[in-house]
Amino acid sequence: MYLSQGEPDPARGYGRNANPGWADVEDVLAALEGPGAFAVTFPSGQAASMALMLALAPGRDRILFPYDGYYNTRFLASRLRPFGADALALDMLDVAAVAQTLRGHASVLWAETPTNPLLRVADLTALGRLAAEAGAPYVVDNTVATGLLQKPLDFGAIASVYSLTKAISGHSDVLGGAVVTRDESLARDLRDWRTAGGAIPGPFESWLILRGIKTLPLRIERQSANALAIAEFLGAHPRVTAVHYPGLEPSAVTLKQMPRGFGPLLSFELAGSAADADAVVAAAALIVPATSFGGVESTWERRARWAAETAPDTLIRLSAGIEPAADLIADLESALRTVLRPKLQGHSLTKRSPNAATSAPRWDSGKGDGGLRGLFR
Ligand code: PLP
Repeated sequence: MYLSQGEPDPARGYGRNANPGWADVEDVLAALEGPGAFAVTFPSGQAASMALMLALAPGRDRILFPYDGYYNTRFLASRLRPFGADALALDMLDVAAVAQTLRGHASVLWAETPTNPLLRVADLTALGRLAAEAGAPYVVDNTVATGLLQKPLDFGAIASVYSLTKAISGHSDVLGGAVVTRDESLARDLRDWRTAGGAIPGPFESWLILRGIKTLPLRIERQSANALAIAEFLGAHPRVTAVHYPGLEPSAVTLKQMPRGFGPLLSFELAGSAADADAVVAAAALIVPATSFGGVESTWERRARWAAETAPDTLIRLSAGIEPAADLIADLESALRTVLRPKLQGHSLTKRSPNAATSAPRWDSGKGDGGLRGLFR
């Protein structure tokens, strides 16, 4: 806890300028991303993204995002349009399309890899080269992999941006965000936005995040092993039409970018309807229905229950926890069996169109989609 009394401490000033609790988290996050880095923490991932957009967008026409990345990042950019650049979504695995889109415009290139929730892996080196040629600041959202598994600054990114709410803190009990950069002037600019705007992390939240980080390597090792075992199980399951996990037959790019493992997050698509997928999620005894991810407990949700999400209708995103893999697989097996077997008679096992209409979400408060969307604002 830091209380500014009497004449402000010249190193820290007023309580909104600096705090030893933030500094401790920032030192660890900077070290995680490699030598020479600075970290600036925020009270959520969205606050970190907002400060970074405000710092990078002025004078630029466009911020390019992956169409399959975290949808609230795109939403935030479109809200910030009056203060900066247009938000444009494209396929970041299509390097030629990114090159073409960068041409002739002053842009920010905002990658996310692996993406949430499709877990697609973009080529960070290729994107870094294009961004350098175009003079575009290059950002990577590193929330899913964490700096333990992937170091975007080594692939040319000016900034690695995080939701610390996920695997970094790891216990689903705190929100936080951070930007890590080797660019001293960007770090200064971000601190200025934080001080001026007042989006500061709480000292207690910082302490919780720091406590969580202490077990990051142990958790990630176990969660990655569990995620791979689950992905392999689902890949062989007759009711599953697709499994998305970077560790299943990893590409050369994936192995280069994530040499130490592939993380806790995976997603899969089910044969059947959105209601079938909701029923599977509800049938688990061990895996918790929840929208966040990266915690020590396994969690899952059908992503398209959120109105603005572009994921296929029956896609379930699963975050593997640290439970015994055999227990998780038994839970999955029974959730898939008890719910789908009776209903599948008459259903086709072919993959449904990603554009199929979304049925009413189970958690709808009766206000329709607007009620759900309101939770995000
Ligand atoms: N980036 C990614 C990839 C995310 O998945 C999320 C949240 O789910 C965020 C950023 C935003 O983080 P927060 O919820 O901490 O604001």
